[in-house]
Amino acid sequence: MTTTVPLRQADDGPASADVVAEAARRRTFAVISHPDAGKSTLTEALALHARVIGRAGAVHGKAGRRGTVSDWMDMEKARGISITSAALQFSYRDAVVNLLDTPGHADFSEDTYRVLTAVDAAVMLVDAAKGLEAQTMKLFAVCRHRGIPVVTVVNKWDRPGKDALALMDEIAERTGLTPTPLTWPVGIAGDFRGVLDRRDGSYRRYTRTAGGATVAPEELLSPAEAAAYEPDAWAQACEEADLLAATAGEHDQDLFLSGVTTPVLFASAVSNFGVGALLDVLVDLSPAPAGRPDTDGTPRPVGGPFSAFVFKVQSGMDAAHRDRLAYIRICSGVFERGMVVTHGPTGRPFATKYAQHVFGRERESIDLAYPGDVVGLVNASALHVGDTLYAERPVAFPPLTTFAPEHFAVVRSLETAKHKQFRRGIAQLESEGVVQVLRSDRRGEQAPVFAVVGPMQFEVAAHRMEHEFSAPVRLEPLPYTLAMRTDEASVPGITATTGTEVVQRSDGELLALFTTKWVMGMVRNGKPHLTLEPLVAAQLD
Ligand code: GDP
Repeated sequence: MTTTVPLRQADDGPASADVVAEAARRRTFAVISHPDAGKSTLTEALALHARVIGRAGAVHGKAGRRGTVSDWMDMEKARGISITSAALQFSYRDAVVNLLDTPGHADFSEDTYRVLTAVDAAVMLVDAAKGLEAQTMKLFAVCRHRGIPVVTVVNKWDRPGKDALALMDEIAERTGLTPTPLTWPVGIAGDFRGVLDRRDGSYRRYTRTAGGATVAPEELLSPAEAAAYEPDAWAQACEEADLLAATAGEHDQDLFLSGVTTPVLFASAVSNFGVGALLDVLVDLSPAPAGRPDTDGTPRPVGGPFSAFVFKVQSGMDAAHRDRLAYIRICSGVFERGMVVTHGPTGRPFATKYAQHVFGRERESIDLAYPGDVVGLVNASALHVGDTLYAERPVAFPPLTTFAPEHFAVVRSLETAKHKQFRRGIAQLESEGVVQVLRSDRRGEQAPVFAVVGPMQFEVAAHRMEHEFSAPVRLEPLPYTLAMRTDEASVPGITATTGTEVVQRSDGELLALFTTKWVMGMVRNGKPHLTLEPLVAAQLD
């Protein structure tokens, strides 16, 4: 008699059930905002609330760089900024929250956009006084394109700012999302008394803490108590809440998940007010990781065998060791440090011996990770942005979209004898997605154009050309700010106007470059037959 030992099915074994349960408690999101809206402050407040760290300020200090964990890029040291983008992980209630960093300020780059391909939700952080600003809108466009749900937080309500109802109109008009406020401010901006929780009518009284260094006790009062405490401000808030009930929508989970509405919270990140409410909203309303569709559009179930994709590669952090870190977002299965996975594009094995959690300057080894988590793989020289990794059953995820560049510069070799190094370096930077490379017959092979989303990418590219490929370069900025897709037939009609140029990207796409939007409008107005389309659906015009 023969006994057959049943092979464990990848999708239904006990391990798979664990993976599904672990995935279900993950919340993976990023904050989209304009510099100075309070993203760092909010990040620290979230971590403080979740009690990952004892005091706000320890997550990623911008100044004072004590205790560097690793040798970082010289340029980064010199500038005193962090160009590391990764994830902060903390637990809150029963959930595991992954907050992916979206570098802003001087470090705004194509990577900032790419982070949004690795999250399941976004928090749109709006400065109460400034409303929706340029960088927020750019990042929002990517969220809208991907259809990821957006939670809106109006920050700095403790400072004078816009009218709350006017802000709701602004959100509706500029984003197309219907704001569904969950809380409503009691007291105008600059006179923050607390919030009316529209879900249960209660009053959460705003209490200040010194510098937001500790979690502020949130006082929960009944409507009757609120009316006694803050008669005028409470009456005003109730009146506006009634108005909202008649005009704005109420929260509807399906509409939120399908990107039609955005729940809104009012906060003061610097004093930790509204931060707990945000965490609750993320845990209660934000989606858990779902199966990522492969190139055929079929989702690989989160409980299936391991799969992940690379959403960011960072090189040269340690000049001596050519340290190269690839950040992967896990899509399905369990990740165990040391496991050998398959690198999709080459079919070669990839050993994950060195896997780390990385956030800002902190690194620690990671042994186990689940769908929604981010892992930094060290010495990952074979991995490129967009690459798929998998175990057991092969899968290929669609390539990541490129984004519309806004800065352009001609690259010239400073040492003419180093043709080979120059070409090799440029090809490598292009394949890694560090910069987009544009060429034209007019400019020739020796003078390609680097095109980027943020100028820091130029510095990274120039640094690597010199130090990694021994081909020092000079970058000559070009005056263009806008790129549109075009075709061969349209070229003469475009280039007849000054302030334009047509170049080719390596994927074959023809790009029309314009010095200003106004020039583009002028070219298009006179000649409606010309092909001029946004480069990506996410590009706002
Ligand atoms: P980021 O550039 O978006 O990361 O912004 P930061 O977190 O560095 O904040 C920019 C400035 O706004 C800092 O001076 C913060 O202290 C301040 N700030 C952040 N949140 C608040 C807030 O809720 N109220 C007030 N009054 N200031 C805030």
